[in-house]
Amino acid sequence: MKLDNCIICGKNNLKTIYKDKDRNVVECLNDGLVFVNPIPQKEQLAKYYSKEYFKTNFPDEEKQGSGFVNYALEEKFIRSGFKDKLSKLEKFIKPQGRLLDVGCALGFGVSEAEKKGWNAVGIDISKYAVKYCKKNSLKVRQGELEKIKFRYKFSVIFTSHILEHVHDPLVFLRKAGEMLKSGGVLYLAMPNQKSFIARIMGSKWFDYRREQHLWFYNPSTIRKLLTISGFEVLEYGIEYNKILPKHIAIRLRSYYKNPLITKLAILLEFIFKIFGSESATLPLGNMYFFARK
Ligand SMILES: [Zn+2]
Repeated sequence: MKLDNCIICGKNNLKTIYKDKDRNVVECLNDGLVFVNPIPQKEQLAKYYSKEYFKTNFPDEEKQGSGFVNYALEEKFIRSGFKDKLSKLEKFIKPQGRLLDVGCALGFGVSEAEKKGWNAVGIDISKYAVKYCKKNSLKVRQGELEKIKFRYKFSVIFTSHILEHVHDPLVFLRKAGEMLKSGGVLYLAMPNQKSFIARIMGSKWFDYRREQHLWFYNPSTIRKLLTISGFEVLEYGIEYNKILPKHIAIRLRSYYKNPLITKLAILLEFIFKIFGSESATLPLGNMYFFARK
């Protein structure tokens, strides 16, 4: 789907800022919204989230994808990240009622939310992810937010690193609004295209190279999209991510496939080993929002 106009301002003032053989990334010069143009077909999008997306730590470097290095191995960190988010959420709403985790992946968020007292449900477009969740007795359905139907409304909708993957963010946000109770809270997290790391890397920013990422936001474009979709922003902040240095190395290698980057990645691993740290908590250029309907 090729867009002639920006979905925020409706104007045709788009400039290409990154290009490779498969992708053309444009920026709206009016409001700074950045997106892949044309957006790949929906059928193509579904193919991105096979089992390989959640485990791309293949011995063969060429096969290493740009998804998760090993999502199940990162479980401890993902769970602790969710616990932090759920604590923040309690500033705005008490843990009672229904919580929906959109793009719940292997269900770590759903399970943490249940522990906190939420009646938690997850959805994911990945068959593999849904099967994994069901094996662990979690309430999870396969499907995309834009099409799925529930008989009830939610108090909270969680969308952690989802909005950059969707076909149309306005359709997505409006549907989230319809599925929330009045006064319900929406959580969003995504890469910030105006973060320090993105600014210094410019067109070499690794996010432009992740085939699953279609939209690149900054705080201002998110605020505009939320306002258009009927939300009021409650809080905005920088997201810190706990990660294994080894995983940074593997990701860097997969994004750039460049021998020099590989050496840099190995050096990075080595430095972490010297300092004896198991993991690092870093601002990797991500941001989060809480918004109320
Ligand atoms: Zn625009």
